[in-house]
Amino acid sequence: MSLGLRGYLSRLGGRTDPETPSSRQDTEHETPTVLYSCPACKRTYISEEMDSCSKCGMSVTRIPSEHELGLSAGRS
Ligand SMILES: [Zn+2]
Repeated sequence: MSLGLRGYLSRLGGRTDPETPSSRQDTEHETPTVLYSCPACKRTYISEEMDSCSKCGMSVTRIPSEHELGLSAGRS
């Protein structure tokens, strides 16, 4: 008997896998925002990429985030 084969074929016909898009669009590309502090202005900037203070031109210091420092809220 070919019941097994028929069931297999009917399952193939009934269930079609959705076509996978050829190119996935990464629209949700997160740009990490980093904190920068200017030692001269004592100001903190939030920017994606920053080399120097926009106000005085001093080189800003990148402030690592808590995640980068490896600090967790649970640790005391
Ligand atoms: Zn500055």
